[in-house]
Amino acid sequence: MAESNSVLDPASAKRLMLERASSLPPIRVKLKSALGLVLAEEVLPLDDQPPFDNSAMDGYALRATDTRGATAERPRRLEVIEVIPAGKMPIKTIAAGQAAKIMTGAPLPRGADAVMRVENTFPDGTGVLIKVEAKPGQEIRKAGEDLQQGRVVLHAGQALHPGRIGLIAAAGLAEVAVHARPRIGILITGEELVEPGEPLPPGKIRNSNGYALYAQILEAGGEPVSYGIVGDDREATKKILQKALAECQVVLSTGGVSMGDFDVVEAALAEAGAQILFTKVTQRPGAPLVGAAAGSTLFFGLPGNPVSSMVCFEVFVRPVIRKMLGRRNLERPTITGYFAEAFKKPAGLTYWARVIVEQVAGKNMLRPSAPQGSGVLRSMALGHGLAEIPADRTAAGPDDPVQVRIFAEDE
Ligand code: AMP
Ligand code: MG
Repeated sequence: MAESNSVLDPASAKRLMLERASSLPPIRVKLKSALGLVLAEEVLPLDDQPPFDNSAMDGYALRATDTRGATAERPRRLEVIEVIPAGKMPIKTIAAGQAAKIMTGAPLPRGADAVMRVENTFPDGTGVLIKVEAKPGQEIRKAGEDLQQGRVVLHAGQALHPGRIGLIAAAGLAEVAVHARPRIGILITGEELVEPGEPLPPGKIRNSNGYALYAQILEAGGEPVSYGIVGDDREATKKILQKALAECQVVLSTGGVSMGDFDVVEAALAEAGAQILFTKVTQRPGAPLVGAAAGSTLFFGLPGNPVSSMVCFEVFVRPVIRKMLGRRNLERPTITGYFAEAFKKPAGLTYWARVIVEQVAGKNMLRPSAPQGSGVLRSMALGHGLAEIPADRTAAGPDDPVQVRIFAEDE
């Protein structure tokens, strides 16, 4: 067990947790549950897509040679021998001087080698007047132009977004093997906490962390599991922690990790058999952050302050969840930005400023999204990103580029 007040810089703390995380074993999921998950197998189409040559337009299937020389003034007349709706196989073969009326997506009839869109035609009794020349192959979607039966179209390691989920459906598969979603337990600690929707007695405050974290886990691709609110009681905390550590891949607690008389998480954790890896990180917000491991389960003791809890999730927990999902890119997109007015901070700690980003003359200009106190949740609610100001700096001004992790888009 590491000494119980080991202090790490953010990069080392993160590395220590990430190196203990690995992608979860594959499971099979239905396509509607696959969004954001990572393929654990190749995708082999069951059929060609499209499965047959078909019309790209509503119009007439015909033989291109029959339209040679056609103009609006001197149209060519073809006899219409069949109407082919989408979903039906044509019965007849197109011979010289013949056409079939055809709908978008309907199979091309034998004998035809082109489709003339309806806009270039005019009905004429039992026939049709063709007003422009057709080129062989025009307006025809060839069988297999998107997918070919048995030919790999997606690979293990690719993350499933809507286009890929559609492609797997087109390949004929109802299920797919992906890395499982990690179960992320949430344990909220604090005698003072009351759920939203309930009356607020004197001396109590709302549990906001439980809800922000739940949403952060969902957004990161994890499966949140709530273990409720526990008072500042070591025995009760230990019991729930043991249960959560056994049931989840990652367990998060909030509160109870500072220097207060009733901060019992660290002691309860040790009693629950976890190995404590660090208890403090040189950063603001979020200095009192505990990292621990119990077997293959990772534990983060997040600070109680709402901004600290959310920032620690962003910086430390989100990459771990993504690694367990099998994602290769663990980080948020980042931009380079500049504080419009100098942002001051103490030396010796990494500062995660919550900022609004605005484009001014092609530059990303930054300003604080709200007062930066760790209890002012508006800074997370109204901010676009976290600007990282390195430990050795005491300020960042208009000439100091800083990296910003973008966690929210504008409306
Ligand atoms: P602690 O780390 O337990 O000392 O909590 C630090 C601060 O965060 C205190 O002001 C707590 O009231 C507040 N806090 C703790 N847990 C929560 C929570 N779940 N939701 C909102 N605020 C909290
Ligand atoms: Mg507390």
